[in-house]
Amino acid sequence: MSTWLCVLVQTPAHAALGPVLTYRSPQSLPPGTLVRVPLGKRETLGVVWEAAAADASGEIDADKVRDIAGTLEGIAPLGAPWQQLVGFAAQYYQRSVGEVALAALPPQLRDLSPLQMQRRLKRIKPPAAMGGTVQAAQALSPEQAAVLEQIQTHSGPFLLFGATGSGKTEVYLHAVATLLASSPDAQALVMVPEINLTPQLEARFMARFGPVYGEQAVVSMHSGMTPPQRLKSWLGAHSGQARIVLGTRMAVFASLPALRLIVVDEEHDPSYKSSEGARYSARDLAVYRGKLEGAKVILGSATPALESWYHSRPAAEGGRYLRLHMPSRIGGAQLTNTDASHATGDANTPAGQAARNAMRAQSGTPDGLPLVRRVDMNHQPRRAVFSLPLLDAIRERVGRGEQCMVFLNRRGYAPVLHCADCGWKSECPHCSAHQVFHKIDRTLRCHHCGFTERVPRACPACGNPDIEPMGRGTEQLEEQLGGLLADVRRPGTESLEHPQGLPLRIARIDADSTRLKGALQTQLAAVHAGEVDVLVGTQMIAKGHDFRRITLVAAINPDGALFSSDFRAPERLFSLLMQAAGRAGRDAALGARSEVWIQTFQPGHALYAALKAHDYPAFAEQQLKERQQAGMPPFSAQALVRAEARTQEAAQAFLNLARQAALSDMAQWPGWDVVLEQVFVYPAVPMTIQRVANVERAQMLVESPSRAALQKFLAAWHDVLHATRAAPDCKGLIRWAVDVDPLGI
Ligand code: ADP
Ligand code: ZN
Ligand code: ZN
Repeated sequence: MSTWLCVLVQTPAHAALGPVLTYRSPQSLPPGTLVRVPLGKRETLGVVWEAAAADASGEIDADKVRDIAGTLEGIAPLGAPWQQLVGFAAQYYQRSVGEVALAALPPQLRDLSPLQMQRRLKRIKPPAAMGGTVQAAQALSPEQAAVLEQIQTHSGPFLLFGATGSGKTEVYLHAVATLLASSPDAQALVMVPEINLTPQLEARFMARFGPVYGEQAVVSMHSGMTPPQRLKSWLGAHSGQARIVLGTRMAVFASLPALRLIVVDEEHDPSYKSSEGARYSARDLAVYRGKLEGAKVILGSATPALESWYHSRPAAEGGRYLRLHMPSRIGGAQLTNTDASHATGDANTPAGQAARNAMRAQSGTPDGLPLVRRVDMNHQPRRAVFSLPLLDAIRERVGRGEQCMVFLNRRGYAPVLHCADCGWKSECPHCSAHQVFHKIDRTLRCHHCGFTERVPRACPACGNPDIEPMGRGTEQLEEQLGGLLADVRRPGTESLEHPQGLPLRIARIDADSTRLKGALQTQLAAVHAGEVDVLVGTQMIAKGHDFRRITLVAAINPDGALFSSDFRAPERLFSLLMQAAGRAGRDAALGARSEVWIQTFQPGHALYAALKAHDYPAFAEQQLKERQQAGMPPFSAQALVRAEARTQEAAQAFLNLARQAALSDMAQWPGWDVVLEQVFVYPAVPMTIQRVANVERAQMLVESPSRAALQKFLAAWHDVLHATRAAPDCKGLIRWAVDVDPLGI
């Protein structure tokens, strides 16, 4: 007797087949079983899904049902919670469940032959019995102890609101240690936003847990791993041998049969939201998964997402997360007067320090956190990149052997090249965007499509040989700083050969300098080793890295975000600047005099005032008030439909036709007027960068005060969107996709 199975497969995007196919199997297999199935002429990986549904439909031609090719032996079926997670993610983010399920599995499960797979499985060894105990590295601070106590006694989810350097990671380590000690099979999932941050985290977890639970107990999962590494980690987690999974957003889908704890570090970071395929939020899925599996969830941040902050308001007001607070930096309180050992500069005299302390006290800077200073650029020479006081401060610090960090959110030399005679500008022929001038290799590059050309000798429009860069990027900062600080020598490098000492070292870290594999790690190592005096870079350097000797961080031109059309821009700027501030004075002995400099034309802006006081709650309160008045998230739910087409007309026509269908046709469906009353579909608009690589892009916002209504609408509207594709006006439409809870609007 054979039986029919429903199997999820990843079907080609445009195939007529749905993602759930029916196959025949000699014996019945439980849902979650991994199988090989024929699909067309090839064989592919499938996951058995709800076994019973197939027989009943009666629509299937029995002769056409094919046999499964086999199961993946030695791999246990994926658990029911995992299936539920995948099913939920597919439904919520409007994608097919087959796509989500198969994308969540390591590619080698699909690509290896049965024999190869057997060999791999043999290599997974049972964990060696280790006799060690987990080293309690440090005595907990009172704040850490209080927070851990709360985590042990409540069920969460928790929002751990802790200043940078307050010891959040130490809290995660303790929570994991307690969990692993309490049960022989319990597993923990710890997520970080960026691949670049995983080696640092891995080292810390390995040092703590490796000696006790063995090397195999800690595995990583991120997109920078090779397919064999990914398979190995996945099998480790799925088999239960790995007790701790560290990873980026993709790790939220790891199969963890005994998951008891999920940590989402830097939970506010936009990288947790996927920007392709199913555009899921790993943070939001982590909370869902925690509830599903009875695992505790800790979201940690110094600048929580406003959504998370809102959800952690007091329970009496409807809050769903428990907010835990760690306001002070570790070691911050006791050191304000202890840095007299540093040699030069009046900042280090008792009087200098006293003045500094007075300034800190006046500005309300908490102990151990850097002083934030605003430079009013309205009073600086026009076109000055570096204000004079900032330059002096940098000189003073590097003269003492301390490091400085300068960041600007624009790579390249200048964002555009132009001709003053005729007004020509370097524009990308394929995008509605400027080509960025890169002086290093004298190229013009489009940062959207990658199109690269050599810089023309003269203006292509009028022949004027004097074409000039306009605006500035990190390359230019590096060059200018080199010139401005040419006379400064590194302290302690005087020798017979160099009686004056050696020149300063200025290094740049951005997407250009780190293109080669391993380049970033090498560059970071040089900073850590003290080989770099001034580090210039994009926001890449502002995140997470634990630079010990940086005592000054400067944001060169952050004002743009204050006037952005994206309502989330201020939130992102605030968190970026707080993160950057977190880079300053991580070394306790230097913490007391570390500073963050903001060069701004808007020194009185409320965002900078809150930043100066390190007052995230004040900033959040003001932002939430604005959002509430404007009916924006978290006070409403949003989705975006994006369309790409050969022409802007086709892209917009598609969206507007689907909108029309929602407003007129769907309103006729029985009972739907109630739903549609709560859902607002805005007319289509071109995207900010309307054309990329010769593709025209448009988008349409859908908004509702009720998440449930929005979800109900989207689910039903999906077929309408599909059907709209065929309309004659949509000729030239390339693709469309729905983005639920979009981050960039
Ligand atoms: P966060 O994750 O909040 O930025 P970390 O956990 O990285 O903070 O801690 C900052 C620094 O303080 C690290 O170098 C860490 O080793 C150290 N640290 C953390 N907790 C303690 C403690 N209880 N006692 C001493 N040092 C600590
Ligand atoms: Zn010209
Ligand atoms: Zn381009």
